[in-house]
Amino acid sequence: MNYHFSANRVRNFGTTIFSEITALAQHHQAINLGQGFPDFSAPDFIKRAAIQAIEADINQYAPLPGRPKLRQAIADKVLKHEGRSVDPNSEIAVMVGATEAIFSTIMGLVDPGDEVIVFEPFYDSYIASIEFAGGIPKYYTLQAPDWAIDPDELEKLFSDKTKLIMINTPHNPTGKVFGQDEMQLIADLCLKYDVVAAVDGAYEHIIYDGAEHVHMANLDGMAERTVCISSLGKTFSVTGWKTGWTVAPPELTTAIMRVYQWATFSGINPFQEAAADALIAAETNGYYAELSNSYHRKRDILMNGFKEIGLKAIMPYGSFFIMVDISELGLGDDVAFCKYLPAEVGVAAIPPSAFYVNKEHGRKMARFAFCKQDEVLQAAVEKLRVLGG
Ligand code: PMP
Ligand code: GLN
Repeated sequence: MNYHFSANRVRNFGTTIFSEITALAQHHQAINLGQGFPDFSAPDFIKRAAIQAIEADINQYAPLPGRPKLRQAIADKVLKHEGRSVDPNSEIAVMVGATEAIFSTIMGLVDPGDEVIVFEPFYDSYIASIEFAGGIPKYYTLQAPDWAIDPDELEKLFSDKTKLIMINTPHNPTGKVFGQDEMQLIADLCLKYDVVAAVDGAYEHIIYDGAEHVHMANLDGMAERTVCISSLGKTFSVTGWKTGWTVAPPELTTAIMRVYQWATFSGINPFQEAAADALIAAETNGYYAELSNSYHRKRDILMNGFKEIGLKAIMPYGSFFIMVDISELGLGDDVAFCKYLPAEVGVAAIPPSAFYVNKEHGRKMARFAFCKQDEVLQAAVEKLRVLGG
């Protein structure tokens, strides 16, 4: 491209891999197991709540921190699920999706030259946000198939320049759920080096096999230095609603708000009302258990299909992604494979090298999303059989 008007800060950014692969899937009319959005209906109770909110004329600006009713519902949820009391007036900020929450957290806390530790593979918006802030990402590479953390190697990344560590659990794209020991290790390092932990819990309610979502802010000394990020999108199958939030101590919450008040000012008012109603309803209608059970079933459809076909897939314990080893298929690296797949097999997947700075680490895998109807997953398995030996 010829650059004349664009700012330097955006020149190195391409189009996200998710948009690229969805366009490719549409072009080939392939089953899209690439971009992670559900192809099934959102629950009726949340749809009705949004319609009612619009009809009740909740259509003007939301207050800067978010609707009081939603902040209260989030505080109640934190108390019930995490056993921690947070102040809805000074410790919760509602904005436009977890993406804006990530951006605002990083822009609000990271100065140019500050270092930010990121686990690789990473959700791609972390790195772009760190670059916008002028921060320096430091990478810890999680290695397949168990994505384990070596405490000494992790500590080598910490120094007096470290400001923030980004943790995503349950993890996109690996399906790793950070265990109690791992979270404690990170907490100990945060305390030792005076670092803030930002925990992206976009998939907090999509978790299997008894895996536990460990709450960083509950570990000793961490409440004052943890930002918890979450969103409606994955939990209620409404990725298009872009309603997310942070829970963090007042100083951090204020810094976060200072960023998004100049980006969007506030989140989307009727969806915030619907979010509050949904969070309240989900406490008594069994929704969270139903969500996990349904994703468990979907995971098993795809995992069993991969097994029958002879594909080497790594078991996820949370989120709705499966990483598959493609190195022995003879179809090239991840990018070549993910171009071949929609065109020749009729299924789309994400090339994970997009989630690595050292692209080589991602070249031998492909990421498949299973947030799709059971029949769609079964149809994808049928198509993928041609990859079997
Ligand atoms: N974090 C992770 C790990 C994600 O996978 C996503 C995509 N849903 C987001 C954040 C962004 O969430 P939202 O759509 O609410 O902006
Ligand atoms: N979180 C989704 C995924 O990982 C997509 C997000 C997006 O399209 N930006 O597939």
